[in-house]
Formats: sequence, structure tokens, C-alpha cells
Amino acid sequence: MTKILHRTIGTTLPRAVAGEGIYITDSEGRIYIDGSGGAAVSCLGHNHPEVLEAMKAQMGRITYAHTSFFTTDVAEQLAEQLVELAPNGLDYVYLVSGGSEAVESALKMARQYFVEVGQPQRRHIIARRQSYHGNTIGALATGGNAWRRAQFKPILPETHHVSPCYAYRDMPVGETPEDYAERLAAELEAKIIELGTGKVMAFVAEPVVGATLGAVGPVADYFKRVRQVCDKYGILLILDEVMCGMGRTGTMFACEQEGIVPDLVTIAKGMGGGFQPIGALMLSEKIYRAFAEGSGLFQHGHTYIGHPVAAAAANKVVEIVRRPEIMENVIKMGECLQAGLDAALGQSPYVGDIRGRGLFRGVEIVADKDTQQPFDPARKIHSRIKKEAMKRGLMCYPMGGTIDGVNGDHVLLAPPYIIQAKQIDLIVERLAESIDAAV
Ligand code: PLP
Repeated sequence: MTKILHRTIGTTLPRAVAGEGIYITDSEGRIYIDGSGGAAVSCLGHNHPEVLEAMKAQMGRITYAHTSFFTTDVAEQLAEQLVELAPNGLDYVYLVSGGSEAVESALKMARQYFVEVGQPQRRHIIARRQSYHGNTIGALATGGNAWRRAQFKPILPETHHVSPCYAYRDMPVGETPEDYAERLAAELEAKIIELGTGKVMAFVAEPVVGATLGAVGPVADYFKRVRQVCDKYGILLILDEVMCGMGRTGTMFACEQEGIVPDLVTIAKGMGGGFQPIGALMLSEKIYRAFAEGSGLFQHGHTYIGHPVAAAAANKVVEIVRRPEIMENVIKMGECLQAGLDAALGQSPYVGDIRGRGLFRGVEIVADKDTQQPFDPARKIHSRIKKEAMKRGLMCYPMGGTIDGVNGDHVLLAPPYIIQAKQIDLIVERLAESIDAAV
């Protein structure tokens, strides 16, 4: 009997004993294709020799030095690389140990920023419905996923939510993408006015929504309009790229494709590629200055920030991901995956939408394609798909519709950036069979 409290109590999980490239092997000798990079984490696959080497080298030097006493070469090099790669203006890096921690840090940095610049009345956070920003209390409060929030709602800090940009369900036939972006910007502006224009501190959004909607990108100009609204009211724009960042969508940062620069951006999963737990918050000069010329102290910190072995792993992961051939493969294989999914599932009466960018693709499962009616949540279609896929040696990342009943079950695919066309074909084939068996 396991002594681990698994998330789903009482489940018997296969035991992973080895990983190589895009494959994981269990203790029974079964081999799984990692079609989702776990949860969009393993961007270089498993046991990448160069990353292992960099970690070993660091372990031979020093494995831990508390950041209130020391910095390390690897942490400094990692920060330099990230600043080189980030959109212009994101010039500083605060290292953390994962996605939720990055989001918590961003929220606290936004709040302290306004204290530093003499606007302590700014305290409201606006985010979007059907979003996920992590599981810690602040991050969970920011997320707008009713199912995840439900039982914790009484202990969550107050946050406010507006509509996500979700064209498949919310942009009616006849409305142009420009009009849709305008309508959503107007909704955000109305919310800011309702809360009091000088009282909102930040708007938080994922450029391409991962866990809650399944690779849903914005319509053109949505983020440009959001940026304008934030600027008009002096609100900080926090983009959460924990899942969609670090090359996943075909550019190092997903917001590059939107032509805007946020004030703060969070990254994690693909940054450490699963080799070590690590994440980061990147910030603009404006925010850095407010702290440097103000109290001189970010009133926040965790014991493992800037961990040298994690920094060494991430430093190598980022160095590999930025190689031109890797990003070319993300774009090429991303198109190949979309084409494969369109061909295999496009005609299915249970597939409402197939979307995404780069190697970040989502398939939305519906009971009725014409009305977009989701399956009854009690049927747990997403859990069944996951089970069927595991039986067929495929790891994918299915999620249920929200309890607000607005979207259907979906499957997220986020394979490693080193994937090849033949392996994409296998993913598509196994996923199509799994959906067939589950519905
Ligand atoms: N933000 C986004 C967009 C995420 O997708 C996730 C995790 O799925 C998080 C934050 C939380 O990250 P972590 O699970 O590393 O705490």
C-alpha cells in the first residue's frame, strides 16, 4: 500500500522507472509517449544528457547557498539569458521554485510597487473567468476556474473576474475579431470603473490559456487593447506564461506574438523542463526603480529561490531551447500536429474545436457539435480519455469543463520540442482511438 497521498485518493498509479527522449517507462516495462510533457513541463523530453551534465557539474561545486548571503554564477547566467530573450523592457529577474510561487510573487510585487510609489489605495486584482494561475491561496483567488475555487472561496482574498478571450464559444457569427477584442476591452474598462479607477493594481491573464481551456489563444489586437486600457488607468499588466512561455507556442515568450510588453511576466514549467523545480518573475525597469529608490527591499522570499542546481538545469534548458533548430522544430511539428489532429478528428461529431500555437494544441470535446453543448460533467469524459490514452501508451492532459458549465471537456497536447513527425502520427492515432473509446 502506498503511503503517498496521491491527488486522487486510492488510485494505483504506474511507477515511472526510466525516461529517455519523449518516452517514460514504467516498472512493468510499458512505454508511454509523453504527449503532454507531463503538464507542459518536459520541453526537452527526459534525461537530456546536456542538462544532466550541467546539473552534475553544479552539484560538484555547490548545491545550496541561501540568497540572503550569496548569489551564484549559474543564477546570474540564467537571469542574463532570460533578459536577453525577453521582450525589450523586461530587464530584471526574480527567481522562484515554480509557477504558483511566481504568480504569488507577481501579485505581491504589484501590491508593494504601489505602496512604494505612494498609491497604497490600489489593491484590486482583475483576472479572467475560466483561468488558472496556480494553487496557492493568492494564485487560486486570481484564477477564475469555479471548480477549483469552489470549496476554498470563503478563505480566498477578494479578486474580480471578466470574460476570457475565447472565440470558439464567445465570438458570435457576424462579430469580427476586432469588434470582439473591443467588446472585451470595454468590459475590462467597465470593471475598472466599477471598482474605482485609482483602486485597481493589476490585470492578470495568460496569453494562451492552457489548463482551463486547452490552448486557447487570443484574437488579434485583444492584448493590444488590454495594454491600452491598463495604461489608461495606470494598472500593471501581469502576463502568466508559466505554461505557454519558454518556446511552447513557437516564440520564446507567447506575448511576443501579441506585440505587447507586460509590466510583469511569470514563467516556470518549460524553464526548468522538469529537470528541477524552478520558475521566475520578470519585471520592468519602472518596477525595479520603484523598489530601488523606495524601501530597497522586496518584502517577500522563499528558502529555495535561486537554488544553484535548479538554476544550472534551467540555464542549460534555456540555452538549448533558444537554439534556432529547436524553435524551428516547435513551429514545424506544431503545424504537423495541428494538421494531423484536423485530419483524424476534424470530422468527429464529438470534436468541437482544434486549436493552439506551436507545440501547444487543444481539442475541445462536445456532446453536440452544432450547438457546442458540452457533455454532462458527471460523465467525466476527460478522465475517461486519460485512462484510455494511458492504456494505449499515451500521456495527454485532459481536463473537464468548468462547473459554470460554459466550456466542454478538452485535451491538451504539449509534447517535447524534440519530437519528430512519426511520433506526432502516433500521438494523433492513439488520441483519436482514446476519444472514440471514451465518449
Ligand atoms: N499558472 C499557469 C498558467 C499554470 O498553468 C500553472 C500550472 O499549471 C500555474 C500557474 C501553477 O504552476 P505550478 O503548478 O508550478 O505551481
